[in-house]
Amino acid sequence: MVDGHTFEVEIARHRRARRYVLRLTSEGALRLTVPARASISGGLRFAERQHDWIAREWRRQQERAARWTDGTVLWFRGERVALEVSDRDVRCGAESIRVRRAGDEDPVRTAVETHLRDVAAAELTPRALALAADCRVSVARIAVRNQRSRWGACSSQGTITLNWRLIQMPPSVSDYVIFHELMHRRQPNHSRKFWREVDSVCTWWKEAERWLRKHGREIL
Ligand SMILES: [Zn+2]
Repeated sequence: MVDGHTFEVEIARHRRARRYVLRLTSEGALRLTVPARASISGGLRFAERQHDWIAREWRRQQERAARWTDGTVLWFRGERVALEVSDRDVRCGAESIRVRRAGDEDPVRTAVETHLRDVAAAELTPRALALAADCRVSVARIAVRNQRSRWGACSSQGTITLNWRLIQMPPSVSDYVIFHELMHRRQPNHSRKFWREVDSVCTWWKEAERWLRKHGREIL
């Protein structure tokens, strides 16, 4: 067993095999080749001794499977988009993205995430400034960052930090996150007063919260 995965062992007898051979199939099963005169139990003992090799191969296979490639589906502007990978570029919705392949574990992912982050930086900052002006909230600075566990933040100095992944959400949800952080300029807590402030500028906040609860993990 490796990482909680139990392996099925397919046994194949081969007349011409000279020794036991173990292979990990693309379906994640083990195929054990047993020479004509050798015993199956000996083969299974052999397989058990290969535990470290199996673990290594299995993890490598899992990593490869997780890599972004043609057909990988991700959220972009509130829709699920399947990446189209060609020799020249990756298409993600209306975006065409160049990929540099050299020396990267997951070049498609790196290229797409970098590009979306640039798109986010270009769009989210003016959007946040416009919404701040609409609701007459002063902000010191808008920063678009790569955050692993939150959508946004509001510092006591008035800096609003936004996760670039907001670009993956429906615009109404992304706007809600921005309004949410802006209202922290008025109420630096999650009191009733705070939610009343949110409701006064973003009447659809409950719906947006529901979307985040349902799909947020698919983005972060
Ligand atoms: Zn908050």
